[in-house]
Amino acid sequence: MTTIRDIDQIFLDIDGVLMLSDLPIPGGTATVKRLRSLGIKVSFVTNTTRKPRQLIHEDLLRLGFNVDLEDVVCPAIIARERILQLKRPTVALYVNDEVMQDFEGLKLNRRRAGAVVMGDLGSEFSPEILDEIFKLAFSGSELFALHKNRFWRDPSGLRLDLGPYVAAIEYATGKAAEIVGKPSPGFFRGLLQRYKIRAENTLMVGDDIEADIQGAKRVGIKTVLVKTGKYDFDFVKRSGIKPDAIVPSIADLCPALGIETK
Ligand SMILES: [Mg+2]
Repeated sequence: MTTIRDIDQIFLDIDGVLMLSDLPIPGGTATVKRLRSLGIKVSFVTNTTRKPRQLIHEDLLRLGFNVDLEDVVCPAIIARERILQLKRPTVALYVNDEVMQDFEGLKLNRRRAGAVVMGDLGSEFSPEILDEIFKLAFSGSELFALHKNRFWRDPSGLRLDLGPYVAAIEYATGKAAEIVGKPSPGFFRGLLQRYKIRAENTLMVGDDIEADIQGAKRVGIKTVLVKTGKYDFDFVKRSGIKPDAIVPSIADLCPALGIETK
């Protein structure tokens, strides 16, 4: 297994690793404290796209994690940083109202946008809106999507998620959207870039063998899978994906890295 000597920064997934249905998973706050006491930087990395970073940050504070807003990273934040690097850093945003704040500082422009971002607009993806997105992407705006999930469940039952709308634009334009969330390599490269750190000096801890572990491994980040949250023995086995280590929960991370817990 990885030894902590090489690790300068740890990326922690939130749902299923630190919390489950809004309740903390035991050992999370103590682990973060211990890692920081050794000079290791800890960031909180989630695929959440339905709420802004601010609210994710508040959830973490409520659970007792002492964390700066800047160290909470979600797909919208990575998308914003990618767009800032474009020649024309203007954007047409098709995301829900709350998530707009994650794109602050970018110039909004629905006519000549350097980028178009598709997020969780749900039933607001009307034919007219899809037409607007299509025209922008077709005429050269970079197409970003916060995720490409097929469907989701709300209290009324199963609903189309963002994925089918993204697929419609891809089909019409013949261009693939850049999916910014985990497991996309762009997400993990964006993380390394924002912290100016090399993959081999970082470690991703997650409960999702595909989104967290496979995604991170692809860019050379070391990985630890926890058996809480969505972990499923058979699914992990069938996936053939091998994390550097598997631990019962976040409480076991330090011992697995050879760190004494006090
Ligand atoms: Mg998770």
